Amino acid sequence: MADKYDVILIGAGMSGLAAGIRLAQYDKRVLLLERHYLWGGLNSFYKRRGRIFDVGLHALTNFAPRGRRGVPLTKLLRQLRIRHEDLQLGEQRYSEIAFPSERLRFSNEFALFESEIARAFPTEVDGFRRLTSAIFEYDSFAPADPDVLARKVLSEYLREPLLIEMLMLPMCYYGSAIPGDIAWYQFAILFKSFYDEGFARPEGGIRPLLDILVKRYKSLGGELRMKSGVAEILRTGCGDSQRAAGVRLDSGEELLADQILSSAGFAPTMEMCGAEMARKVRPTDRGQLSFNETVIVTDKPPLTFGNYGAAITFFNDCETFAYSSPDPGVWGIDTRSGVICSPNNYAAKEPLKEGWMRFTALANAEHWEQLAAGPREEYESHKYAASQAFLDSAARFAPDPRPFEIDRDAFTPHTIRRFSGHPRGAVYGAPNKRLDGTTDLPGLFLMGTDQGLLGVVGAMLSGISMANRHSLQPTA
Ligand SMILES: Cc1cc2nc3c(=O)[nH]c(=O)nc-3n(C[C@H](O)[C@H](O)[C@H](O)COP(=O)(O)OP(=O)(O)OC[C@H]3O[C@@H](n4cnc5c(N)ncnc54)[C@H](O)[C@@H]3O)c2cc1C
Repeated sequence: MADKYDVILIGAGMSGLAAGIRLAQYDKRVLLLERHYLWGGLNSFYKRRGRIFDVGLHALTNFAPRGRRGVPLTKLLRQLRIRHEDLQLGEQRYSEIAFPSERLRFSNEFALFESEIARAFPTEVDGFRRLTSAIFEYDSFAPADPDVLARKVLSEYLREPLLIEMLMLPMCYYGSAIPGDIAWYQFAILFKSFYDEGFARPEGGIRPLLDILVKRYKSLGGELRMKSGVAEILRTGCGDSQRAAGVRLDSGEELLADQILSSAGFAPTMEMCGAEMARKVRPTDRGQLSFNETVIVTDKPPLTFGNYGAAITFFNDCETFAYSSPDPGVWGIDTRSGVICSPNNYAAKEPLKEGWMRFTALANAEHWEQLAAGPREEYESHKYAASQAFLDSAARFAPDPRPFEIDRDAFTPHTIRRFSGHPRGAVYGAPNKRLDGTTDLPGLFLMGTDQGLLGVVGAMLSGISMANRHSLQPTA
């Protein structure tokens, strides 16, 4: 049996890497275990036909220019001792929320969004200002009322149903694990991260950012083991005095630690603790919402072939927005709404020569798992047909890249589950979040998606704050 670690971290996604750096900075003996052969988790990358594809990067939300005080990105960089300029962030041109009867643009200047609301919904100007003030005054990182839902709060400030639907669409797509709604505190976090802070893209995509994190972690003495899945969380003591004592890997190897921080999600983490703990998992501890994504590479940038300058387009093809796992239907996806994204439409020192467009649709996880369990050709042809159906739908809101297509890739909830371990490919985890990161087993804590902070910046903040709170508090 190996020496004892101070902390074992499960998962080398954004939260695990950030927690690892933070702990290693304080000379903790820390081990980061990852089941996959590549780090990054939901925000990783892969190579196909000589091109590097990002798994999940549409936008780094929470953009802040160097030195802006009191905002998440600045806090994050200070805690990890990473320089802003090392991220090489290029700001978006603009993004938009597109419904059939109205489009709202926004950029990294809040004034643009405010003026768009005033143009499109003149009777809602006062309500929107009051809503904005309420959001800025609200302590969304330590919410007193985490169960309150956003639709209810929005209806207290706004009367135009269309405006409410338009505000809900991007927030749900970028962070809600709750069908039809989003927790109010998460809405508030995302609202600030979109409209007051903004969108950027690290030059070169997610890989350079991951390289910085991994290099920093290792340079501080942190240990990283890939292809090292955790099969079981070991316990010591009995009855009420039980606590986490270490892990057993898929290989059978046992490793001991004083504390374990897991980014695998609440339900999978409880299942690693054995049948008794797994029985405590409730339906709201299991996420349902997942996505299909199609990436199209074109021979020229979308600005050239379609005058498309948006970094992100959130679209919905009718006046109300339905956010749920779709019925399997024909394609296993919802073609009515989605996200279109172009990495070309961020500032860059070296602009991308090829065009890139990403198309994200809500998808039915069971449908795709069933197909994936059958013949490979059937799964692939269905995936292609679903992509085509979604691209037909999206072409009503952004230029169709297919006439200029030179490469394509697509993934489904099955792919997301396979490479990140999240059951049903539930990108935003479970509806029920555990904001303090504690579990019923002393010494075992959650970080990342099921702790409650999402996205690249959110997950890193989650890793940092859980490490600070549970592993460093007494000594930091
Ligand atoms: C298609 C898509 C688009 C996205 N777009 C954006 C975007 O534009 N902007 C943004 O900010 N965010 C985006 N996200 C969300 C963002 O990627 C996630 O919120 C964030 O990366 C979550 O990080 P995490 O550390 O909490 O979890 P994860 O990334 O899920 O990391 C968990 C890690 O744990 C590993 N693991 C699980 N079980 C075990 C085990 N038993 N043993 C060892 N290792 C294990 C997994 O392999 C994984 O690497 C997107 C996600 C997807 C899928």
